[in-house]
Amino acid sequence: MYGLTADDQRIRDTAHEFADSLIPHEVEAELSGGQLPKELTAEFHARAIELGLYATNIPTSAGGVGCTALQQVLVQEQVGRVTNGLAWVMHTPPQWWVDVATEYQRERWLLPGVRGEKHEAYAITEEFAGSDVSGLAATAHRDGDEYVVNGVKWHVTSFNLADYVFVQAVLDNGPFAGEHVLLVVDLPWPGVEVVRTPHYSHHIADEHPIVSFTDVRVPASHLVGHEGQGMTFTQDWFRFERLMVAARCVGAGQRLVDEMTAFARDRIVDGRPLAEYQLVAGMLADSATELFAARAMLYEVARSIDAGAGRKTLHGQASMAKLYCSEMAGRVADRAVQVFGGRGYMRENVAERFFRELRVERIWEGTSEVQRAIIAAQMVKRGPAALA
Ligand SMILES: Cc1cc2nc3c(=O)[nH]c(=O)nc-3n(C[C@H](O)[C@H](O)[C@H](O)COP(=O)(O)OP(=O)(O)OC[C@H]3O[C@@H](n4cnc5c(N)ncnc54)[C@H](O)[C@@H]3O)c2cc1C
Repeated sequence: MYGLTADDQRIRDTAHEFADSLIPHEVEAELSGGQLPKELTAEFHARAIELGLYATNIPTSAGGVGCTALQQVLVQEQVGRVTNGLAWVMHTPPQWWVDVATEYQRERWLLPGVRGEKHEAYAITEEFAGSDVSGLAATAHRDGDEYVVNGVKWHVTSFNLADYVFVQAVLDNGPFAGEHVLLVVDLPWPGVEVVRTPHYSHHIADEHPIVSFTDVRVPASHLVGHEGQGMTFTQDWFRFERLMVAARCVGAGQRLVDEMTAFARDRIVDGRPLAEYQLVAGMLADSATELFAARAMLYEVARSIDAGAGRKTLHGQASMAKLYCSEMAGRVADRAVQVFGGRGYMRENVAERFFRELRVERIWEGTSEVQRAIIAAQMVKRGPAALA
């Protein structure tokens, strides 16, 4: 099905089997706030690398696995089948950096990141700048061979586990004053402090603290690309991540469809399997149908990337995939809770966990409203045929 090559199937099956080995640990992670014993997490991390499921997005020239976009999607789909972020060990380091990293940056962060020795975090969002990244208030002041960064960043995912963080700020002096820079800051670093670590709906090992940067001195060699280019990299990262969000949502949808179908087949109510009740059958059928549509769209966009489709088209289509797949997964999770009945409200039940966990997929990497705005703007500018 889906015209996958033997190589595509091989990597998908490897990822599927690995994801299956993580599933038995979900409930323990859920009940311990997302934490598993350190040795176990280290074992999963090592296994992901050994199986060739780590850095699938990085070209072989930079030490990565060098997968096609479709293969990356196939792996991330399997990541999405597992709750509590346990499959995040199939990590994708910043591939947009490969072409622009200086030799120093490559040796210090990029290559160790690809080898799984260093981990990154992104500090872009602020209290008053989320969807509208152009509204950032954090500043970077050029002072000789350094930048001095001031600002407070919100929702910095994985900060507690990261070795370095990308910080986006607005230059307040020099020829590019008013434009954005992206800087790399090692962790820990003087002036970088956690303000507080809020609790979120999901329970995963990666925290999302609010982080303050106070007179943080960053060597100029830590600038990614050039002054004024900050937004370009963020856009590249968004385009990639949106497709990967879509992939993980398809994986989640598949797991939910599998689990609710098995339950509806085996659960007997008033002498008959639940699946024979037409109102329940409708929920199963709608879920499988939407999942099929989502996956077909996802693979089509990935194949367009592999075929070298234009950046603008891909920007719009990545938004379409992110929008549709995340909303599909949300609807499927809601139905799955309903099919499971009271069991579906228990934290030990996969539908309950996904019901909470999938909600953020409509928010991060651009909300559903932002995706719709991107799609509609392209329809108006370039004509609907450019996208679909
Ligand atoms: C768990 C989690 C992890 C995150 N991790 C990171 C991270 O690692 N690094 C990072 O930098 N950020 C991260 N974020 C931030 C995330 O990207 C933002 O929350 C998201 O972009 C939305 O921004 P906001 O929260 O400021 O909402 P707002 O931008 O304030 O939006 C609020 C509401 O208004 C709507 N809205 C806003 N603008 C428009 C518009 N133009 N048209 C129509 N509706 C609009 C939105 O869709 C939304 O419904 C994370 C967020 C969460 C929840």
